[in-house]
Amino acid sequence: MGILDIVPAGVLTGENVVKLFNYAKEHKFAIPVINVTSSSTANAVLEAARDIKSPIIIQVSQGGSAYFAGKGLANDKQQASIAGAKAAALHVRAVAPLYGVPVVLHSDHCAEKLLPWFDGMLEADEAYFKEHGEPLFSSHMLDLSEEPKEQNIATCVKYFKRMAPIGIWLEMEIGITGGEEDGVDNTSVENSRLYTQPEDIWDVYRALSEIGPNFSIAAGFGNVHGVYKPGNVKLEPGLLGKHQQYASKQLGGKVEKPLYLVFHGGSGSTKEEIKTAVVNGVVKMNVDTDTQWAYLVGIRDFVQNKSGYLQSQVGNPEGPDKPNKKYYDPRVWVREGEKTLVTRVKEACSDLGNVGHL
Ligand SMILES: [Zn+2]
Repeated sequence: MGILDIVPAGVLTGENVVKLFNYAKEHKFAIPVINVTSSSTANAVLEAARDIKSPIIIQVSQGGSAYFAGKGLANDKQQASIAGAKAAALHVRAVAPLYGVPVVLHSDHCAEKLLPWFDGMLEADEAYFKEHGEPLFSSHMLDLSEEPKEQNIATCVKYFKRMAPIGIWLEMEIGITGGEEDGVDNTSVENSRLYTQPEDIWDVYRALSEIGPNFSIAAGFGNVHGVYKPGNVKLEPGLLGKHQQYASKQLGGKVEKPLYLVFHGGSGSTKEEIKTAVVNGVVKMNVDTDTQWAYLVGIRDFVQNKSGYLQSQVGNPEGPDKPNKKYYDPRVWVREGEKTLVTRVKEACSDLGNVGHL
């Protein structure tokens, strides 16, 4: 039985998201989540998923959402990020069924100071729910990991009470992802804070499970956003197994792996580290830095290889009056970036065992 026997193609919400993650857990694979910043990148991600018959997770960050709406817009009240997130979601909703793959539509890290963005997305979810009986997004991430634990959990509880009734999954973070991403710089955080303890995870689980079962935890196990030379921080995906054991014991041992775990800062990880994380209940792994790079590669190579055709609108190595339109049309050169992005998304899926499950 494949995934399309249990959930439909297109954007999933509510119990369909649970079904997908449970299927991944049972079959010991994880689904990559790829950041998108435009319809071009979103389409490439969907194309990759279609080609290898896989479910996929698409997400927008706060900065990526603003970019989706347009860099020329003011964003002092998160208005561009809210509008861009909605636009991205509506775009994906419009085209995803044509690609024939199940899609989880997600928003990335939201820190305390960005909560107005979160509020705006939730309002859009509630409005969409009124009209269609489901939220606009499948899930959202709250990241209060830089705040004290009590405040982190209390904020998640407050929002989850609003999200659960309309079927929105919550991802939260406890412990810090190091490195730098989307303007958040955690490069100088002390190393011990990068490893979450099982007791902290249990505190989160206990508080959120009173509201509903549909949440996941991004725990720190030495994760770092971005790609750096190896050395400073050691990734310890084995720690995730300890979290599962601890939570399982607290629950009376009936469920072996009660937690849905998320792997942030996956770019640059070894295949072995990824495998250990998946075995320990990671159902979603974030990939951003590597796919940003991949999108550039195709465009860069095209511009370099076709340099003689890109110096003027008319005139190239084949003759002074030869037109260059079929080289400078964005559908030609942006497409080259899409192709290399498609390839990289397929690789991320393959690393996680997310191939041929539909
Ligand atoms: Zn992250």
